[in-house]
Amino acid sequence: MDWSSFTRRYAAKYAHWYAAGFFALIATSWVATTIPLLVADAIDALATPQANEVPWKAVWIALLGVFVILVRTASRVLFFTPGRLIEAELRADLFSRMLMQQPAFLRNYPPGDLISRATSDIGNLRLLAGFGILQFINTALTVGFVGVQMVRISPFLAALTSVPIVIAFLINHSFIRTLFVLIQRMQTETAAISDHVLSSYQGLATVQSFNANGAFLEEFDRKNLAYQASSVHRSGIRAIIGPILGLAASLSIIVLLWQGAPLAAQGKFSAGQFVAYLSLLGMLISPLRATSFLLSVAKQAQVGLQRLSEVMTPEPDRPDLPAPEPAPKSAPKLELRGISFAYPDAPEVEVLHDIHVAVEPGQTLGIIGPTGSGKSTLLRCIARLYNTPPGSIWVDNVDLRRIDLSEWRRQVSVVPQRTFLFSESLKENILLGAPDDGRLEKMLALTTLDVDVQSLPDGVESPVGESGIMLSGGQRQRAAIARGLLKPHHVLLLDDVLSAVDHATEASLIATLRQQRPTTLIVAHRISAIQHAHRILVLEGGRVVDSGTHEELCSRPGFYQDTWHHQQELAET
Ligand code: ADP
Repeated sequence: MDWSSFTRRYAAKYAHWYAAGFFALIATSWVATTIPLLVADAIDALATPQANEVPWKAVWIALLGVFVILVRTASRVLFFTPGRLIEAELRADLFSRMLMQQPAFLRNYPPGDLISRATSDIGNLRLLAGFGILQFINTALTVGFVGVQMVRISPFLAALTSVPIVIAFLINHSFIRTLFVLIQRMQTETAAISDHVLSSYQGLATVQSFNANGAFLEEFDRKNLAYQASSVHRSGIRAIIGPILGLAASLSIIVLLWQGAPLAAQGKFSAGQFVAYLSLLGMLISPLRATSFLLSVAKQAQVGLQRLSEVMTPEPDRPDLPAPEPAPKSAPKLELRGISFAYPDAPEVEVLHDIHVAVEPGQTLGIIGPTGSGKSTLLRCIARLYNTPPGSIWVDNVDLRRIDLSEWRRQVSVVPQRTFLFSESLKENILLGAPDDGRLEKMLALTTLDVDVQSLPDGVESPVGESGIMLSGGQRQRAAIARGLLKPHHVLLLDDVLSAVDHATEASLIATLRQQRPTTLIVAHRISAIQHAHRILVLEGGRVVDSGTHEELCSRPGFYQDTWHHQQELAET
């Protein structure tokens, strides 16, 4: 996204607000720079027979002053409102974009970094879209109108008094360049701090149990001090730029007194005009001092736009086709036709090698194998959390990559190994936006959570804390199973989650699945969870090393038979 697409997409629709604000600013600047001339006129009139009109002139000047206050206030409202509206829209767009991204995206942009883009970078764009534009136009108009009025009084003095101001801009040039570099650095440093704070908070239990508080604090201090150093440096530079420009305006006054006073004495212009010139120069001081702030606002916004484009421009890695196929309306046939897969961030390591298998509608496939053999990866590919090679996964004889992704996600219920619970109530975590139509109670009973709920302070309405910290590991896992089963689905993917329930609960869950008959894939370490499956795959190193029914696999030597014997021995002891 560059400035022109930003303007077209976000700012153009507020053109009428900006236009009205612009006219309000022209009116204020024009009237404000006219007032000194009226004062000059009044002063000069004091020495003439029209001196009795001076009080009326004063009333007129006061009324114009009130006009300036009112219209200046209106101009602020007219500029700040679109700034706020643009900010809200940008944030909504960024958030909806984030929700479409695949998991690989988060590895490039950790959460703290995304938060700092959503808050400080968007905030900087708002500052430019509201205050920045207002201040820029205001400065340009004030300098313009003051210049015109000064030239009207004396072109010679106007040229002479502008010399210190031009010199000040030249001196500031290198400071402004340093300022820009610092601003860029500070934005990256803010992101690093947010990320450190967020990850420390998420892993608080680990930090405390390893007594690693000191190391985390030290790292925080290091990041914070780096930011502090850049921030102090930036304030220093701003503190130089502003006063140099302010000083230049004051030097112009000295130039005026030095060159202008003799001219006034010679009667080249009146005492009133001299006073008017003085106050016009005074009007330049504050816009010129504000220039340094304006420059940093503009640069911050430019960096902000660049950082936002980085996360908003890349198309989510899920090519939604122009005319996707609809997802199946009942339990489908799932087929893996020689799927091989490597994660996008480690393309040289093939995690799945040439896997072939078919699961008929409503049937169950069990998957077993040592840790790291690719079981979870296989489920992630079917859930299409990652893009797999075209033609490697087929759903009712349609290539999965051709199926409407949002519809597919609605049909598939995944219960991952690592459950994520939101810091809401247990009920909200299980329903996850679904209506509470009585199935919640059934799911609680099925996962035996109904017993646990009785000991929670507010039952099913109890908050579960950040990431479900107030529940035990087993309770979290069962809440995830309840969530997965409650969602209407035709395909069910269970990633080693049945180990969290006892054998009786496991048996009743499996019986329920048999009744509902979704096409099911169950990854398990415990054979009891998959022995009922129509077919079982044994994975090792990403390859299928054996497959068959429970009875077939038990009858031949290998990983499955060994595991079965080992688990039976354990059960008997
Ligand atoms: P299993 O579920 O059988 O324990 P996984 O499917 O989780 O195995 O992992 C298979 C292999 O893929 C492992 O070597 C693991 O290190 C690697 N892996 C898992 N997730 C990722 C990822 N997001 N990026 C890169 N490699 C990964």
